[in-house]
Order: sequence, then structure tokens, then C-alpha cells
Amino acid sequence: MIKVNENYAKLKASYLFSDIAKRVSGYMDVNPDNKVIKLGIGDVTKPLTPACLEAFHRAVDDMANEETFRGYGPEQGYAFLRDAIAINDFGSRGCDISADEIFISDGSKCDTGNIQEIFSTDCVIAVPDPVYPVYVDTNVMAGRTGIWRDGRYEGLVYLDSTNENGFVPAPPAEKADVIYLCFPNNPTGATATEKQLKAWVDYALANDALILFDAAYVAFIRDEKIPHSIYEIDGARECAIEFRSFSKTAGFTGTRCAYTVIPKECRGFSASGEKIELHAIWNRRHSTKFNGVSYPVQRAAEAVYSEAGKKEVKDLIDYYLNNAKIIRGKMEALGYTCYGGENSPYIWIEGGMDSWDFFDLLLNKAEVVCTPGSGFGKCGEGFIRISAFNSLENVNEAMGRIEKALK
Ligand SMILES: *Cc1c(COP(=O)(O)O)cnc(C)c1O
Repeated sequence: MIKVNENYAKLKASYLFSDIAKRVSGYMDVNPDNKVIKLGIGDVTKPLTPACLEAFHRAVDDMANEETFRGYGPEQGYAFLRDAIAINDFGSRGCDISADEIFISDGSKCDTGNIQEIFSTDCVIAVPDPVYPVYVDTNVMAGRTGIWRDGRYEGLVYLDSTNENGFVPAPPAEKADVIYLCFPNNPTGATATEKQLKAWVDYALANDALILFDAAYVAFIRDEKIPHSIYEIDGARECAIEFRSFSKTAGFTGTRCAYTVIPKECRGFSASGEKIELHAIWNRRHSTKFNGVSYPVQRAAEAVYSEAGKKEVKDLIDYYLNNAKIIRGKMEALGYTCYGGENSPYIWIEGGMDSWDFFDLLLNKAEVVCTPGSGFGKCGEGFIRISAFNSLENVNEAMGRIEKALK
């Protein structure tokens, strides 16, 4: 008998973004001629920049000649890209990360989802609430949780992110083995200070725990005092894995390239308490199950670090940050308390009503799609997320409509 993985049955039936899509298509069925502006889902809208495109094209041509053609590449990624990352993303911030501690991949969604495979099934998992759903669902699938009850999975440690703690939870009193952190945060837009991250590193060291640090939105940090990497904190090399992606940094959501950093000192423990190098286990997993990112895509990613690429990517992010500023400014002027939108593309807005009611209000009265905060967790109830990923023109129009609808 082909028995299935019963853990899948524990997954909450509906997926947030399909619920949103259903309501939007329901509205459009009744109002087919109206233009709905989508500031909901977290996908970029601007094309790849010229430096990336040129490198991409050139690499495709390399594949046409026997002398420059490439077959299977190294699973961990080509040295040209790993070297550029080590120097530009870490060396430049004083972080001691070497190229062979970097694993190139096709996405941080996959990496943050797959990494839990190398941990024991009885590890206690801590996740922020609200949260990027991938961290939770992949642990449900692996059997690290109980059932879904009252808006939460049993067996997980939830780290409440609220306006009281500025959406940066402090380490809990109880023991957790694996802690997911994401800064700048999706969905709240919060960033963590050096002191706040230090508290987490100290907790991980004291509890033999591991931090999984998702820095997918690092490119949006404009305040130089905010740490860009967990490795800016002393001790993190021993107890933290960092995930980064070209998706939001350089518009690669459809092109696919990301990477994971596992320092050589980063340790797990055997059943008998012996230290085990996580780098070695992940290397084994990655080379067995992953074929590497395509050569042209890695060349396109490398171009992000060229002189032209750096400037273009900064301009690209500045464009979205300007949208974010407009959104936050307008919502504040309308009397709403807003968070994020400063070193982040997301604005987290306290609506003073049920999240889905606010969602429906904006959809029906302004024809603007946002994301209800409650979809990211219990603590998101009462909030909505508005994303800056759209054209300036659409953002201006959307905010004009929202102003008219809410005034
Ligand atoms: C968008 C996003 C990512 C990036 O995912 P990719 O698979 O690299 O496109 C990672 N983490 C969070 C929280 C995100 O919002």
C-alpha cells in the first residue's frame, strides 16, 4: 500500500495568496472594466538591469561554442560568483566569510525550506509571528509540529512580533533549537539593531541552538548603522546560517538565483553531544540533490557586483523605496500608524479593524489589493501589508484612490 506522508494533512488547507486571488477575481467578475491595482504579493515589477542582461546574453553565447560551452557546473556554484559575493557582500562589511562557505542556489524559498532536512526531527523550532509561511509549512511537512489549532501549530515556539517590541522579538524564556529570523522583515518591514541581534546570538550560543537568518531584503537597508548580515555579530559564525537572494536585490524572481552561507565553525550536535560541522552535511545534501544554477544565470548574478551593476541595482531599489515612502506618507497622513517602508519595501499598517475587513474595504472602495496581516499569523490580525513593488504611476494612483475611499 502506498501510504502518504500524513504530516501534509496537518497543513492549513488554504494558502493566503490563493484566498486573495479568489476575492480579487470575484470582484473583477462583477466589475470587469475596472482597473484593480495590486500592491499585495511580494514580487518585483521592474526588469533586469542592463549590466545583468548583457552578462546574461554573453553567457548564452558562450553556450553556443565548443571552447566556451559549459555542462554540469559545480553544485556549490561557480568560483567567479562565490568570490564576488564573499568580497562584496561580506568583506566590505568586515565579515569574515570565504567563498567556499557560500552555496549558490535557485532560491531562498527553497533553501529556507530545505535546510531543515539536516536537523533531527525532534528539534524544537521557533518562528516569529507574523512570519513568512515557508519556515512553518516545511517543518509541518517534516513532522516537527502537532496539529493546527486556534491559528497556530502545536509544538512550535511562536515569537510574538508586536508594536510593543517594535516587531523584533527578544529570545524566549523556553529552549528552542532552531530559530528563524528575517530582517528586514517580511511582512512587518522591521529591522533589527546590532544589540537585538547580539541577544539572539548569545541565546543561540548559550543553548547550543542555531539561528537561520533570512536577509532577502538586505538591499533595502539605507541606514548604515543597521546590521546587513548576522555575521556582523561576534560569535555568529558558530551558530548562524544566512540566506540571501538576488530576487528582491536585483529583480531575479523569474530568473532564479540565491545563496546560503554556512561558516565552517557552524556546529550541530550528534545524539551523543559531539560537535558536527553543518557545512559538511549541507555540502553533502546540496551535491546529492541539487544540480547547480545555470551558467548564464550565475553570470547575470555576477554582474550585480560590477561597477555598473552596483549602481543600477542601487537605483532599482531606490525606485521601490521611493514608492514605499509615498505609501507610508499617505497612510500616515490619513491617520494610520505605519511601520516599515524605510529600510524595506513593505509597509505594515495598523488598520483599527479586522485584517480581512480592511482588505475588502480597499478592494471594494479603492480597487487596490493589499495583503491581510492575519494571513501571516495571529499577531498580524488588525494589520495589512502594502508592498512597494509596482510602478510609481500605479502607486500614485492607488494612494489617490485610497485617500478618496478612506477620507
Ligand atoms: C522573497 C523572499 C525570499 C526570496 O525567495 P526566492 O526563492 O529567493 O525568490 C526569501 N525570504 C523571504 C522572507 C522573502 O519574502
